[in-house]
Amino acid sequence: MKKTIGFGSTCVRGPEAPRPAKPHQLPIYATSSFVFESIEEGMEVFSGQRPGYLYSRFGNPTIDAVAEKIARLESHRLGFDAHGYLSSSGMSAISTLLLALLKPGDRILTQGNLYGGTTELFRKVLEPLNIGITLASLGDSGAAARILAQDPSIRLLYFETPANPTMECLDIAALCEAGRKTGCFVVADNTFATPYLQQPLGLGADFVVHSTTKYLNGHGNSTAGAIIGKDAGLMKEAVFPKLKLLGANCNPWDAWLINNGLKTLEIRMERHCRNAIRIAEWMENHPEVERVNYPGLKSHPGHELAKRQMRDFGGMLSFELKGGLEAGKRFMSRIRFCSLAPTMGDVDTLILHPASMSHLNVPREIRLENGITDGLVRLSVGIENAEDIIADLEQALEG
Ligand SMILES: *Cc1c(COP(=O)(O)O)cnc(C)c1O
Repeated sequence: MKKTIGFGSTCVRGPEAPRPAKPHQLPIYATSSFVFESIEEGMEVFSGQRPGYLYSRFGNPTIDAVAEKIARLESHRLGFDAHGYLSSSGMSAISTLLLALLKPGDRILTQGNLYGGTTELFRKVLEPLNIGITLASLGDSGAAARILAQDPSIRLLYFETPANPTMECLDIAALCEAGRKTGCFVVADNTFATPYLQQPLGLGADFVVHSTTKYLNGHGNSTAGAIIGKDAGLMKEAVFPKLKLLGANCNPWDAWLINNGLKTLEIRMERHCRNAIRIAEWMENHPEVERVNYPGLKSHPGHELAKRQMRDFGGMLSFELKGGLEAGKRFMSRIRFCSLAPTMGDVDTLILHPASMSHLNVPREIRLENGITDGLVRLSVGIENAEDIIADLEQALEG
């Protein structure tokens, strides 16, 4: 039964009733600790001789059940089990995992166009701990392999695909193979794609991280993250102690909200993708639009690769307006139906103009280096009716 049901069924069904546990308060297991039937039981659980719950920072039935569900989705039909933990945010998932796997003197090989917070984490938290960063264009997996082979201090390869802002696609299997040859850990941030579209563990990655704040929750009502790993021993011996001691755990209420969101992950993703390709194709022919970045378009440099490693092309796209900064601001001020918000992956369509919003305080040269041009607009396509999204974009473009 466990391995034969479909992806969508796995989203909807379960998780199974939690292991025997006696919460101090009623479920949602809103309890900081768990009571024991007897001193013997308490001793056995504390010593690890029998499974059980002690204290919610170490584990909580609500949180663990949802972590297990995401692990099942990331390993769905791959022929092995994955293991998961939830954390307080996407950022805490990333920081906890990297602090668990790396030590001073180690380096990370990664790309320049990562999620902004991740780049800042590397610069402001890891570099001062003497964990170095090597940036390269990971679009060339051969070059990445050469860098890995030349620098034995690189112990971890970290990437995102598709990546902001141009939806650049990286060859996950080729990068994982390069990582495997030098014995370094491979970590993929799968927030943009979700396990419905792409399963990096099946292509050779050791770990996947998520900001569940985005598509996995999908409704924009909680901030949380997930760490999913293939190796049970590493998860238990290396990742879990760091999560516990950094206090980066999720809370039962947010875990419960993620679970509610996960029930519709498959049907939401189908709709996100269907709407996004329609909007991308419509935009590509619009006279005010210079260029559309969407892996589902034949014009996108990652189109063939995305076809190979993704089930569909996702709900994220960006486009370049003719007329630069002024055109961008004018467009944004005319938007009525879509929401102007600096997040993504929600059921409603979200628009971001980085040059006047998220990257307003970033010097222009640095923005441009990262592909964030003045007229670039990012769209997280929602699951509304596509006609309504297009009508809003159309009237805003006419302004
Ligand atoms: C949002 C995001 C993060 C950070 O997640 P938080 O939940 O905001 O901490 C990390 N990676 C990607 C790709 C993201 O979009």
